[in-house]
Amino acid sequence: MPEITVELEVFCSTCGSELTTDSETESPSGYSNNHAFKVTVSPCGKCLEERFEEGKEEGKEEGIEQGKKEGKEEAEEAKKEGVESGN
Ligand SMILES: [Zn+2]
Repeated sequence: MPEITVELEVFCSTCGSELTTDSETESPSGYSNNHAFKVTVSPCGKCLEERFEEGKEEGKEEGIEQGKKEGKEEAEEAKKEGVESGN
């Protein structure tokens, strides 16, 4: 199989940063077509960070709502159990 070198530039579609450090190019096994190759990229660090912060905020709000709901359910459950056991 002939070795080919492909110079590839990948950019973040969100902010336009060049993604070179984390990109990986390989010819996938199972492809008989030598022209096919696979590129794996990770989002750029800046966007990852931004998404992480966004997710943290969303998760915090969701967690609070979920906690409130679960706390209420648990309190009701405990009340029911208390009534059943005669306390
Ligand atoms: Zn980016």
